[in-house]
Amino acid sequence: MKTIYVDNNATTAVAPEVLEAMTPYFTEFYGNPSSAHSFGGNVEHAIKAAREQVATLIGASPEEIIFTSCGTESDNTAIQAAISANPDKKHIVTTRVEHPAIKNLYEHLSKQGYRVTFVPVDRKGRLDTDFLYDSLTEGTAVVSVMWANNESGVIFPINEISREVRERGIVFHTDAVQAAGKIPIDVADSGVDMLSLSGHKIHAPKGVGILYIRRGVAFSPFLIGGHQERGRRGGTENVASIVGIGKACELAQANLNEMNTRVRQLRDKLEQGLLDSTPKTTVNGDKEQRLPSTASIGFDAVEGEAILLMMDELGICASSGSACTSGSLEPSHVLRAMGVPFTSAHGSIRFSLSHYNTEAEIDFIIAKLPPIIADLRKMSPFWDGA
Ligand code: PLP
Repeated sequence: MKTIYVDNNATTAVAPEVLEAMTPYFTEFYGNPSSAHSFGGNVEHAIKAAREQVATLIGASPEEIIFTSCGTESDNTAIQAAISANPDKKHIVTTRVEHPAIKNLYEHLSKQGYRVTFVPVDRKGRLDTDFLYDSLTEGTAVVSVMWANNESGVIFPINEISREVRERGIVFHTDAVQAAGKIPIDVADSGVDMLSLSGHKIHAPKGVGILYIRRGVAFSPFLIGGHQERGRRGGTENVASIVGIGKACELAQANLNEMNTRVRQLRDKLEQGLLDSTPKTTVNGDKEQRLPSTASIGFDAVEGEAILLMMDELGICASSGSACTSGSLEPSHVLRAMGVPFTSAHGSIRFSLSHYNTEAEIDFIIAKLPPIIADLRKMSPFWDGA
């Protein structure tokens, strides 16, 4: 059975070009980039080249990029650096729909004495920016707002938020893990202070990330150790993965157009096909301000986990909008924050495409999924038969 992978917001396949670029750095060029000999020095050149590829994707200077182990480390490093630089400020701001890498960190910080503001979103997943600006005070140390949401795909107005926050002298961080490679990112234009990316969402391997730190922003390392990354992150570099994320950034730039044309059309075809064939089906999130590759669809009166299991039997890999916590199926915090009704939130499925998906795969899903939903509804106590 062929796998139809439409779960690219969870993780992506390593691109063959990325693997090819990485391979020599396991066996041939295995030197330590910090070594004095030229064998290590050659490896250092490869890291330098990767830093330039990353910087090009987001419009940064190479010195403003540090390599980390994942998006989560980048997020943690950014927020810890901002609060360490502002020890007297005890208020921090984020949104109600962040990934756990920020959400749980903020909850942790609230237990350490920080006052936390979680900015709400509306029914379409759009951020209440007035609420955000009104919450800012002299005592606010940092604001972190994701560029695009991993579940709904909704894109936040980062340029505007960044300008408003920084005008008040507050550090601004954005988690761009889901935005990278899907929409253009220009840090110079947006003026963000810090920005996180993750390799495994853009066809690089798992276990490598990026943190952009704008020149002049106060910074202290999270991992204290050797002089690597100019003292901003200790630890011998994950060379092969760094080479990989560099190559992935180059490919992401080259594929941006296809993402916003062919992949968008596939996503729209999938969405429309399911909406047309299945009654009481809704799209979660704003249909305009949205990543081109993501569709979060609520099928009323069915259990998302049951849909996933039945799709899995056909080789279709997607995600539900529910998180299984201690045996109970709770709708995700993102759908809850959006106020998606209970019976739709429970039956929400996230499809996230990449440029590797084909039209034949989308046609297969459109043909197979509606009968699955119809069968499940026949068994559902919530289905009124409409
Ligand atoms: N931020 C967002 C928006 C994400 O979607 C993810 C991963 O799903 C992360 C952060 C965490 O990235 P990583 O898995 O590299 O730690």
